[in-house]
Amino acid sequence: MTNTHSEVMTFIKEQDVRFVRLVFCDIFGQIKNISISADELDRAFTSGISFDASAVKGFLQVDESDLLLFPDASTLSILPWRPAQGRVVRFFCSIKRPDGTPFEGDGRSLLAETVQKAALQGYQFGVGPECEFYLFKLDDEGHPSFQPMDRGSYLDVAPLDKGENVRREICLTLEQMGFYTERSHHESGPGQHEIDFKYGSPLEAADNFITFKSVVKTIADRSGLFASFMPKPLAQESGSGLHINLSITQEGKQSRVLEQQMTAGILNRINEISLFLNPLVNSYERLGCFEAPRYIGWGRANRSLLIRLPQSSPEYRRIEVRSADPACNPYLAITLLLNAALEGIQNHMVPSEEYVGSAYQKQSGKTLPETLFDAIELAKNSEFVSSIVPKRLLEYFLEAKLADWRAYEDAGDKNLASRFPFFL
Ligand code: GLU
Ligand code: MG
Ligand code: MG
Repeated sequence: MTNTHSEVMTFIKEQDVRFVRLVFCDIFGQIKNISISADELDRAFTSGISFDASAVKGFLQVDESDLLLFPDASTLSILPWRPAQGRVVRFFCSIKRPDGTPFEGDGRSLLAETVQKAALQGYQFGVGPECEFYLFKLDDEGHPSFQPMDRGSYLDVAPLDKGENVRREICLTLEQMGFYTERSHHESGPGQHEIDFKYGSPLEAADNFITFKSVVKTIADRSGLFASFMPKPLAQESGSGLHINLSITQEGKQSRVLEQQMTAGILNRINEISLFLNPLVNSYERLGCFEAPRYIGWGRANRSLLIRLPQSSPEYRRIEVRSADPACNPYLAITLLLNAALEGIQNHMVPSEEYVGSAYQKQSGKTLPETLFDAIELAKNSEFVSSIVPKRLLEYFLEAKLADWRAYEDAGDKNLASRFPFFL
């Protein structure tokens, strides 16, 4: 949708909209929102709506707490699960300081800047996420358990697949929000499912991922289930990845050379940016088995590798980055991937040879970081990361991740501690 401020105001009146949710993310990709009355929306567009940024993890200190949310008119969407009379709509927002300068913790603006930079160089990116997640049962007290909602596996049908109705409702709800999914199926793990998004611009894809997580959680909750986006909730089963498909055109044209250069750029920087693609202790338990990559290389049909360049019709030409997981902040993850891709293009980089065979058997060669701690060190020492991620955001991020790591190290029960933020 490409609505203007005035089109939005007309829509609000005609559709009997009573409440407006102003949505943004904290630096870890956790969705946040403020609800305002529809009468306040005009003011939100012109002057912004303030909130206490010192209460949002990773934003500001207590002595400089005010930030403002400015809705992006093009992201208008009805929340279909809220009442049809006295409707609720939502907008994604940009975040500014009271003096009008952009807030450096706003990953959405950072991604928008990268997209603009690419456009100035003549490149347009398309992004198509594929997201896996688990549906767990609730216990007798209504709390999430680690009991999967079924015993199904890859592409199973009912009655083994008990998730068909939930997936259907998720896809239909998203469709009502103007967000189209391409396919969905039962994944390999018990209670594990996957839904793939239709391609969009990088910003649409990141916004959609945030919408997706909240819709999946909402529908699961209404179905008496708990949706978990943890990268590896069950140690003996398949993990949940967020495969990020990237396409590129230059003046509307695709090119194999660009795809190769973009692949080389990402392979070159993946270690330094892994902290942002795989931000939890638990993220590193997923990598290196069950079709999640560990070895840094590329292939075509090979699902043990970091990047795939699958055979496809021109409409679906893309590279598939397989390491990211659904715990990431999609704005930061996509910003860093696109910058690595652009660097590969600018420097005419050539990727290593295609890797043939299972990379899980490979004993030597460059691999992704083994632990969250290794990923923190790599990001901390990366000039590439500090040239893209604003200083303050980076410092907060590194500090918080180091605290996660220390908490894990100090925990008596490591297995439980690594599965900690289960709520994700
Ligand atoms: N679940 C695997 C992962 O963790 C991916 C399986 C697939 O290729 O869909 O990335
Ligand atoms: Mg899958
Ligand atoms: Mg995939």
